[in-house]
Amino acid sequence: MSVERAAFITFHACPLAAPGQGKSGGMNVYVRQLAAALGDMGMQIDIFTREHEGISNSIETIGPNVRVIHLKGGDPEAHIGDLYNHLPEFLDELNAFKEEEGLEYDVVHSHYWLSSWVGRELSQAIGVPHVVTFHTLGLIKMQSRAGEVEPAERPLVEAAVMASADRIIAFSPHERDAMARLYNADANKVSLVPCGVDLSVFRPLDQKSVRARLGLNGEKILLYVGRIEPLKGLDLLVETAAQMDSGEKVRMIVVGADVNGDREMDRVKQLAKERDLDDQIDFIGQVDHSELPFYYNAADVCVVPSYYESFGLVALESMACGTPVVATRVGGLSTIIDHGHTGYLKSWRCPEAFANSVEMIISSDGLQQSMGEAARKRAEGMGWDNVAAIMWDEYAVLTENPVQDDNEY
Ligand code: UDP
Repeated sequence: MSVERAAFITFHACPLAAPGQGKSGGMNVYVRQLAAALGDMGMQIDIFTREHEGISNSIETIGPNVRVIHLKGGDPEAHIGDLYNHLPEFLDELNAFKEEEGLEYDVVHSHYWLSSWVGRELSQAIGVPHVVTFHTLGLIKMQSRAGEVEPAERPLVEAAVMASADRIIAFSPHERDAMARLYNADANKVSLVPCGVDLSVFRPLDQKSVRARLGLNGEKILLYVGRIEPLKGLDLLVETAAQMDSGEKVRMIVVGADVNGDREMDRVKQLAKERDLDDQIDFIGQVDHSELPFYYNAADVCVVPSYYESFGLVALESMACGTPVVATRVGGLSTIIDHGHTGYLKSWRCPEAFANSVEMIISSDGLQQSMGEAARKRAEGMGWDNVAAIMWDEYAVLTENPVQDDNEY
């Protein structure tokens, strides 16, 4: 049987939501871009997501062969931590919609642990393979940084779905190993398929012109892009600038909105004040995804200081624009960044080490240029069309050799 139609389940992360604010980030980008690339290749994709603030009961076609279908799944304004109890309602809505439209799917691909519960129920009911991408894992998040709290059901659902799924997509060997070690998952069921990048949008541009466009002067620019929350470790960007002693004046540009009011942003601003750097850091807020290439191209270095990053799309986008990255050696970042070649990976969240790496890059035009060229070259192998082709093969193998398992949680 060939794969003609796939159901994507992304219960809480609507692919239409603007990334970089609220809880919307890499997963929203991933679902949208992967679906778009598969759609371009001729696969019909229905993306099911819950109704949320501003969008209810709508069906939107977002590109060739790709629809986003919003269904009821709890109060549209509910906090993510309270969504688990609304999964059965969403599943009922999905089944009703499917019946009404007479839809049949060859494969179900779910995203994140909440959706994985729905995906498992749906795939078992209709007898098709279930593919799951967890994006992040509850147990790793909780181990990465003290204070991270996750719903009690999360690790239980993750373990149960790892046992029942036909295929688990991991972004890095680190994630695959963690699945086996922490959840007792069968590593043979895990496929490594990285995230991708839109190479026509994220591409090298003339630095002078983009700086003029953004109103920036000749200072060296350190860029951070992403949601602002403690797990992203933004304090390390400020501490890095505080440790730099080459005399070069740097400007830190922070793109993205705070996940929780202004709590983390205020903490980082306070730190910048204490380090006497408050006039060297600019919080730009959320920036439209299509405008980001200007920021990556304006920057001398992109800094990714996260405690945990299952993949780290920002690093790949920066590299696609030809801007070297200095990042923590966590999760998927070590599979994207080629240490010493396309940027630097630091084993510890240590400001001195980060400062040293950043200074090496910004003090040598030659190094910055050669790293930038190597970065773009590396990113060129990671376009969404390549990722979609690999994913299509994953689906095809399963639909041709279906494996059934009926573990319950
Ligand atoms: N992003 C954006 N606008 C912003 C901030 C971030 O479009 O103002 C996008 C960014 O380009 C990237 C995603 O949000 O595609 C963040 O993905 P990443 O994997 O780095 O982090 P996550 O959100 O998954 O933790």
